[in-house]
Amino acid sequence: MEGTMKAMVLKGPGRLVYQQVPIPKIGPRDILFKISYAAVCGGDLPAYRDLHYLQHTPIIIGHEFTGYVVEVGDQVKDIPVGMRFMGTSIEGCGECEVCKNGGKDWECPYSTKYGLGFGRDGVFAEYSVIHHAQLGVSVHPLPDSINDMVGATCEPMCVGIGNVGLIKPQPRGERIVIYGAGIIGQSFIQAFKAECEQCEIAVVDVSDFRLELARQSGADYVINPARGKSAYDAMAEIWGYGEYAYHDRSTKPCGNATIAVECTSNMGCVAEAMDIVTQNGKVCYAAGYGDDDKALIHPVNLMMKGVQVIPGLMGNFAKSVQYMAEGKFRTEHLITHVYPLEQLDEAIHKSMDSKHSCKVCIKVDPAFPDYPYNKQD
Ligand SMILES: [Zn+2]
Ligand SMILES: [Zn+2]
Repeated sequence: MEGTMKAMVLKGPGRLVYQQVPIPKIGPRDILFKISYAAVCGGDLPAYRDLHYLQHTPIIIGHEFTGYVVEVGDQVKDIPVGMRFMGTSIEGCGECEVCKNGGKDWECPYSTKYGLGFGRDGVFAEYSVIHHAQLGVSVHPLPDSINDMVGATCEPMCVGIGNVGLIKPQPRGERIVIYGAGIIGQSFIQAFKAECEQCEIAVVDVSDFRLELARQSGADYVINPARGKSAYDAMAEIWGYGEYAYHDRSTKPCGNATIAVECTSNMGCVAEAMDIVTQNGKVCYAAGYGDDDKALIHPVNLMMKGVQVIPGLMGNFAKSVQYMAEGKFRTEHLITHVYPLEQLDEAIHKSMDSKHSCKVCIKVDPAFPDYPYNKQD
């Protein structure tokens, strides 16, 4: 497609410029799409502030969206123009051992390098491109029951359900601690409740506002450690202490949670997650961690307590869309602000304010309607 489009271009740390840029061109395996709504991700904040995760500047960041297909490459046969969808760009490097041996795009260890809004231009613009578009893999049609604003939140909600698939909670129930009540923490609450009715969930955050949202998402207990009691002590009062072979030699008795999920990137929480679980407990690390982040972890937790560590990067897009359509996932209560594209700067700063915001959406196309959400000042 010829012409220009409006975009918010990140030129340097914290420097966004609203400008006209050429509409991107597509290759034979790509699709061009128009964005109605997008959302600000926790991962966009370090990208905006410090250019963290970004491969280059200037760049258009943003990767959570509802889009409409406007043009497809010659080799794309199963994605019709006009289709409403959510998705991401997954593209192998074509040069590594995995790619040369016929591996799929998402198996390439370098595929995140080309990620939408990190390696390639993202969705804080009128149009964007999905490279190597594959229906059911990187492109997921949205059913009518999901509106365009909520559609933009299917991407973060896929994190909880993807990882709960790896954690495999027991149907008889689990005692779960989730650190962080941002949208990723909330996605875990809703995913655990959808997959394991018997589980008890405690959520830890320093924002009372987000803890109230966690309750609305299904949390059984909420803990604000800034009010005096650590999550470890608060949960010991409810669930008691756990036991493991050498717990009497440890400086601190072991907690009695069976699963802990870390979604804060606070190094104290990273370490405590290991202490708060009992023998053979599972710990999932699902926040964005910086290059200099280091946590002090007692090796006995791994060696003697047998804590199993689950990498938290997994997402399940298809199930996120399905559960959203079925009403098992809800995000209207989590969306607290909606801004037009040209106010992206303000939107990003608002989403850094965890005391008064949760999910911040961007109405990229002003022609689209407004939808109900949990509007805050
Ligand atoms: Zn995201
Ligand atoms: Zn590769």
